[in-house]
Amino acid sequence: MGIIARNLDQVRTRIAAAARQSGRDPSSIKLVAVSKMKSIEDIREACEAGQYAFGENYAQELRQKADILVDLPLEWHFIGHLQRNKAKLLAHGVPWVTVDSFAAAEALDRRATQNINLLIEVNVAGELTKAGIEPKEAPELISTLQKLNHVKVRGLMCLPPYDDDPEKSRPYFRKLRELLVSTNLTELSMGMSHDFEVAIAEGATIIRVGEAIFGKRR
Ligand SMILES: *Cc1c(COP(=O)(O)O)cnc(C)c1O
Repeated sequence: MGIIARNLDQVRTRIAAAARQSGRDPSSIKLVAVSKMKSIEDIREACEAGQYAFGENYAQELRQKADILVDLPLEWHFIGHLQRNKAKLLAHGVPWVTVDSFAAAEALDRRATQNINLLIEVNVAGELTKAGIEPKEAPELISTLQKLNHVKVRGLMCLPPYDDDPEKSRPYFRKLRELLVSTNLTELSMGMSHDFEVAIAEGATIIRVGEAIFGKRR
């Protein structure tokens, strides 16, 4: 078994344990393998080990990889910051896209030929350097997005300030979950390699895991 397959096994075991601890069904948590900066061969190896959902945070990199890997039944997730002039790169074959503006979502909607699931990035810690809307802007953005045709808002996403201690992420995950309750949405995309167990305890339905699967990025 290769290293990626082994890592995937370990991540799945950790997901199942975290789910069990909070009385959740492990199959209610989608694992997105974050393959940014990783090779086509690495993605193929993960796919052979049964991983189909992959996340990328640069639109150009996602497009190139998706075009090369068309022979595989992959489910692509764009998890970065979408600028409206890049929306055309994601209009086909990318069923999950994170947005934080109406302009980007509208540009995507105009070019889409099939439905695209949207997650709204929320800047839960109010960090000046980070993307995402303010929590209080969510209700209005959600209702405006519901007027579009191909894009369907499914949930919220966050990327808390990095801290080695996963417990430091908990208040932000909780904040995102509380915000979700005030909407009619169902998906919570939160948790990465170092803090996904805490995210699962706080209700994550989608976790985005890179280094724990593919090893350290340069
Ligand atoms: C890189 C990235 C991840 C994965 O981070 P790891 O620490 O490698 O698990 C998750 N979400 C976003 C938005 C990212 O950019």
